[in-house]
Amino acid sequence: MTRTYNFAAGPAMLPLSVLEHAQREFFDWNNGMSVMEVSHRSKAFMDMTAACEDKLRRLLQVPDNYQVLFLQGGATSQFSMVPLNLLGKNKRADYIHTGIWSEKASAEAARYGDVHIAASSMQDKYTCIPDIETWTVRNDIAYLHYTPNETVHGVEFFSIPTITHCPLVADMSSTLLSRPLDINRFGLIYAGVQKNIGPAGLTLVIVRDDLVGYALQQTPLMFNYTTHIKEKSLYNTPPTFTWYMVDLTLGWLMQHGGLTAMGQINERKAKRLYACIDETGFYENPVQKNARSWMNVPFLLKDSSLEERFLQEAERVGLMNLKGHRAVGGMRASLYNAMPEAGVDSLIAFMRDFEHRYG
Ligand SMILES: *Cc1c(COP(=O)(O)O)cnc(C)c1O
Repeated sequence: MTRTYNFAAGPAMLPLSVLEHAQREFFDWNNGMSVMEVSHRSKAFMDMTAACEDKLRRLLQVPDNYQVLFLQGGATSQFSMVPLNLLGKNKRADYIHTGIWSEKASAEAARYGDVHIAASSMQDKYTCIPDIETWTVRNDIAYLHYTPNETVHGVEFFSIPTITHCPLVADMSSTLLSRPLDINRFGLIYAGVQKNIGPAGLTLVIVRDDLVGYALQQTPLMFNYTTHIKEKSLYNTPPTFTWYMVDLTLGWLMQHGGLTAMGQINERKAKRLYACIDETGFYENPVQKNARSWMNVPFLLKDSSLEERFLQEAERVGLMNLKGHRAVGGMRASLYNAMPEAGVDSLIAFMRDFEHRYG
């Protein structure tokens, strides 16, 4: 067997031991049936989903007055579900633009209400976080939305904005479970699982009780949080295999010291890679130092004509999917929880060697 290091932004690398566990149970998870062959309403499956929620609650210390939902449709569906569910009483919401994903979220919300962009780093090509002193957040709004980690631009918030007059809503698709998080600071958070939590197919939503029950009248049943709260996320057939894989991945996280340990490892991995990028002028990361993402590290070669060669040679030594997003070009290394420190060290060794030969 040859495993490579997969630096893709999502779907992304999964822990090998999780894949091996799934392989062992592939044909016989329960009573001689694969988990893919059992009813989502069977006791075995529902016990698994309850245990999965319990693991997530323990890892994130989710307070009792928050609901945890396992939904479909990706984070992209949440761009609609959030406004549909939260704008019923007050149709105004503010958004912070720090990259492509927050732009998309606000564009969708604008279909349902009065959306104001309270700050944007577009002028700076999304290479920084706008200073909170400059934000023009309105007083009377249903919520303020931001994107703590912009997956494409590699821009991350390292503190939670101190906004207290309205609920804070966060798209945590590429950062949830990468370190400890104070859920109490948020009204709602959501995350597609395929970045840092499992294979594609599920989206986590953690929502405070008092925000539920104010959906816009036209909200489809499948898009209403109330439906999924009542039915424990089993209103219709969920992606059962993905749910099982998420449960295994959460178990792996707990065995490896939980979010405190993950946070320390993730910080180490990122710091080492940024140090390598900054070492000489050969590579470059355009993001302001205080906003450099631990999860997604974009970098450019000063001589962009070497890019193709860089990618080809990297693949030859088992360093996969380093091509940057088409919107920003260059390279991008995504360093989610499942990327081992040895993978980052291999990348750094390759980058130094490449520079030595072509610099
Ligand atoms: C990947 C990503 C999305 C889109 O996720 P889908 O599951 O493809 O809908 C949204 N927001 C952020 C921050 C992402 O990284």
